[in-house]
Amino acid sequence: MSDLSNRKLALSTRVAQALRFLDESTGAVVPPIQPTSTYARDADYAPRQDYIYRRDSNQTTELAEKIIAELEDAESSLLFASGMSAATAVIDQLPGGAHVVVPDVMYHGVLQQFQMSAAKNRLEVSYYAAGDLDAMAAALRKGKTALVWVETPNNPDWTVTDIRAAAGIAHAAGARLLTDCTGTPPCSTRALEYGADISFHSATKYLNGHSDVSAGVLSVRNTDPFWDEIYERRKLQGTVLHSFDAWLLIRGMRTLFLRVEKATQNALAIARHFEGHAGLEAVLYPGLPSHPGHAIARQQTGGLYGGMMSIIVAGTEQTAIDVTRYAQVFYPATSLGGVESLIEHRKTVSGEGFPVHPCLLRLSIGIEDADDLIYDLEQALSRALG
Ligand code: PLP
Repeated sequence: MSDLSNRKLALSTRVAQALRFLDESTGAVVPPIQPTSTYARDADYAPRQDYIYRRDSNQTTELAEKIIAELEDAESSLLFASGMSAATAVIDQLPGGAHVVVPDVMYHGVLQQFQMSAAKNRLEVSYYAAGDLDAMAAALRKGKTALVWVETPNNPDWTVTDIRAAAGIAHAAGARLLTDCTGTPPCSTRALEYGADISFHSATKYLNGHSDVSAGVLSVRNTDPFWDEIYERRKLQGTVLHSFDAWLLIRGMRTLFLRVEKATQNALAIARHFEGHAGLEAVLYPGLPSHPGHAIARQQTGGLYGGMMSIIVAGTEQTAIDVTRYAQVFYPATSLGGVESLIEHRKTVSGEGFPVHPCLLRLSIGIEDADDLIYDLEQALSRALG
């Protein structure tokens, strides 16, 4: 029992220890930050290691990438300066005139990128109703569609897509499947295992978890020339994640499992408390058995549904906005996946023209005491509803 050499340590152990980081020369158990922007060559004018210039990469960012690759069971992960720059690298990498199939409702920034590419005739974009696999299949053009984009669970009503089924549909038409599972990080959903070709996350959210970093990550099970060009593109666009942010991300990821477990417990308690509430028209949370995507969510997340939910307030748009104004524990702020709970009026944030119920409030449930959060929502609702 004394020798651990044959034991494969659990993923949660490996991530909590930043892949067993240990500086042999000092004994430090926390990785350093490598801030240099350039690297001096050796006496033969050769690079000492693989590093030449910070825009290519750096050791701190690479350690964060290795941790995410472990989490995703990926061959390679690449970190970018934001979720949007990671998403944009894939969109820009598609050949001119390529056909893509994307959900009609999704994170509004990515949707806008597709709409702008379509407006400039760079891409041909077909839309499907989020989560609707028949509509996705109908939108595909065999041999012509280059990419299918899936966001699951989907902003802001948390529609769930069956990733394995979506991969089957995309691959049958010769397209790549990209998943955005930002709402359920890879301790919960490992999209590559279900057949996604590229797994994308805004690491600004759960992966970091402390609302103090902007980052995005792409991961693949098998590298190929398309992937190599994405790496090249990151270098040329200068969108590699900065080492200081990578260091914060490494620190954040050490508690990923704990945070997502606690956020899920809190979200389940809140969803169960408010389901059927007289002040609400609906509670949208995949962890509730009443949610249409519950069975797939349970299977894809192993019950770690995460902390993202929406509520639809009974009343006017102003009533919903008032709930955010009266909240005292929830912060009235956008974003998600941090340790602190946030509430936002989605229509105000995503802007006119984006299809969202005017009374929808998006909640990012953090790791605070669940009863405090329930009490806060109750008092804000009762004040707003008069
Ligand atoms: N995808 C989803 C689902 C998001 O929620 C967000 C941001 O809110 C993004 C992508 C974009 O990520 P970032 O804000 O890190 O650029």
